[in-house]
Order: sequence, then structure tokens, then C-alpha cells
Amino acid sequence: MKVVSSDIVISAVKPDQYPGEALPEFALAGRSNVGKSSFINKMLNRRGLARISSKPGKTQTLNFYLINEILHFVDVPGYGYAKVSKKEREAWGRMLETYLTSREQLKAVLLIVDLRHPPSKDDVMMYDFLKHYQIPVIVIATKADKIPKAKWQKHMKITKETLNLEPSDTIILFSSETGEGKDKAWSVIEAYMKH
Ligand code: GDP
Repeated sequence: MKVVSSDIVISAVKPDQYPGEALPEFALAGRSNVGKSSFINKMLNRRGLARISSKPGKTQTLNFYLINEILHFVDVPGYGYAKVSKKEREAWGRMLETYLTSREQLKAVLLIVDLRHPPSKDDVMMYDFLKHYQIPVIVIATKADKIPKAKWQKHMKITKETLNLEPSDTIILFSSETGEGKDKAWSVIEAYMKH
């Protein structure tokens, strides 16, 4: 898909602030610092739209991006940041649970992981959490430019196995640095828009 327009339409703290239109929606989840903002910016061809390395744990909001007037990306605050209190972590979990269970137009969650390392415990927990709610997952294994091409398939295999990825879910190798995987990510998203 060629992105011709994109903008943040709302930072929502509660459900009555979620956009009213029933446009197809894709949420983006990942641990803090994994490269989620960079992924969003690359996909939207926008340099500073999603803030790169904004202070983790601070934003407990869901940021809705309207793209080409036909779909939404929803940026979920990063998880796994050690300095977040138990109370904040619980509030984050409740917000996410409310969103996932109430949002009918949610087509899939893009789970961003780091291709260089096996998915963390938190990544596995997030994947299982999404499967519990029967939400399709598109795994984005990013930072591919940081490892040699010859090792990509080995790392992809480890990622799939660690998550125990279901055959119905998709995994895409990605790099926000080179744009590797961008076209594939858009074509998978476009296919899910029709679901
Ligand atoms: P977020 O906290 O998940 O939103 O992560 P950011 O997008 O802020 O990225 C964290 C750091 O990783 C930043 O220094 C980025 O420049 C870097 N980064 C993100 N994606 C990539 C990538 O695909 N390749 C490389 N080499 N660096 C990346």
C-alpha cells in the first residue's frame, strides 16, 4: 500500500475516546526499545511521527494513527520496562485487556520482536495473551540489518519456536534501517483488512 496520509488522531486513556469509525484496526505491541516507533515511522514514511525512544513506562495511552483515511494503527505502550511499578503494570494490563476484548474492528496485532535474540519471557506472555483472546498475530522480527543475511533463517526459526507460533499467524523479517520487509508487511495488513 502506498501511504499518502497519516496522522495521530487521538491518544486515548479510556474506551470512550477510541475513534468512533469502524475502520479496520491493527494494534502494535512490543517490549520497550524493541523498535516499535521506528517500525511505525518506516511503514508510514514519516520520520518523527511516532516518537523514537520516548521515555518508557510514561505513556499509558493508546495512540491511534489514521492512515489513508481507511485504517488505524494503534500504538500500545511498550512492556517489560523494569522501572514501572506494579500498579502501573496492572493499569497497563487492564487498559490492554479492555481494548482487546471490546474492539470489534481489531483485525490483528503486530507483535514486534528483536530478530537478534530469542523472544523474551514478556514477548511469549504477550503472544499467549493475544492467543487467549483469539486475536490473529503478525510477528514483526525487526533489526534484521544488525545480523548477517546468512543467519536470518536460523534466527527466524528460533523466533517461531520460542513463541510457539501457530501456523495461522504470520512472521515477517523487518528492518527499519533498510526497509526490508516493508512491502510484505503492507500486503499482509491489506489481506487482513478484508477479514
Ligand atoms: P520503541 O521503544 O520500541 O519505540 O523503539 P525505538 O523505535 O525507539 O527504537 C529503539 C532503538 O533501536 C533506537 O535507537 C532505534 O534507532 C533502533 N532501531 C529500531 N529499529 C531498528 C532497526 O530496524 N535497525 C537498527 N539498526 N536499529 C533500529
